[in-house]
Amino acid sequence: MIKYTDMHKCVVEYISAGDIEKYSYCPLSWWLSRKEGHRESEGVIKHRNIGKKAKEGMENYRKSKDFERGVMYFAVGAVLVALVGVTMLYESKVWATVFHALAILWLIISVYFLWRYDRLEEQWKGTFTRIMVMAALLSTVFSIFAVSFFMNPNYLLGYILEIASLLWLIGATYFLYESMRKGLHYSQIRQELHLPDGEIIYVDDLKKAPLLKSKKYGIVGRPDMLLKVGKEYVPVEIKTGRVPRGPLFSHIMQLTAYMLLVEENFSIPLYGLLMYGSTVYRIEYEEDLKNILLQKVEEMRKAMRTGEVHRNHNRPGKCRHCSRREICPERLA
Ligand code: SF4
Repeated sequence: MIKYTDMHKCVVEYISAGDIEKYSYCPLSWWLSRKEGHRESEGVIKHRNIGKKAKEGMENYRKSKDFERGVMYFAVGAVLVALVGVTMLYESKVWATVFHALAILWLIISVYFLWRYDRLEEQWKGTFTRIMVMAALLSTVFSIFAVSFFMNPNYLLGYILEIASLLWLIGATYFLYESMRKGLHYSQIRQELHLPDGEIIYVDDLKKAPLLKSKKYGIVGRPDMLLKVGKEYVPVEIKTGRVPRGPLFSHIMQLTAYMLLVEENFSIPLYGLLMYGSTVYRIEYEEDLKNILLQKVEEMRKAMRTGEVHRNHNRPGKCRHCSRREICPERLA
């Protein structure tokens, strides 16, 4: 049980997204679950396995991207070293002059961007920094070419640089192989779990993932997964039981709680995903839905204060599927 102090300086109990799901299914089901300990149900075990797989996928994706960067650094390095090596083998005043001119041109571009930097709006500073670094780098490389063409040929140094370039290329090939291998593994895991597009940035694995908190509304939770699709954060809730004909209200409420947590901890999400096996429902994050959720949270707080909780439906089918019907005094089936 996690407690916090709200804006009225009262100590209030946080309500979890999982409890909101139970309450939305049937208030009595939630109430009875508060008296139960942690249950290692089939669903929990399935969830844990999905979490493990997704975590594995997330790590493979990150490694694949790291190796991809390695490919770029090694390949660019190899090309530059090879080019410097070639210039060591020849003497050419013409090429020396051309590269001198190019080096000065890129130096001027770099100085121009440096001069404009202070007058820029914050949003452009990152792009300008990248252009400045690129311009300064090109200027340096062209200067090296110009000096090499200007000097007398140095065959020994030229050949050493060509061999070094070859070794860098072998390094780039290794990184490419590893990047493809990890990328392939990630794709297989995504297919296996029926995951939609996007980079996995958070997985609820064995409760080690950080708990997301909303201090404003007193809600906590760990979404099964958090995807980053472009610039959007998308919470994902995976359900392992029977596949319903449409998304269930209680699951929508749970997902809405996660969207609210994403709003407070990252940025306002546009939507969340509810997954029943390979069936995926996109739930838009709308004001009406958020209001219904907050109303449910308010009702739960009232129930905790008064201890008055009852069944709120007349559907025997609901009771038949309820995991607490054995101990429920108001069950219909
Ligand atoms: S058995 Fe029926 S009334 Fe009882 S908690 Fe479950 S759904 Fe609610």
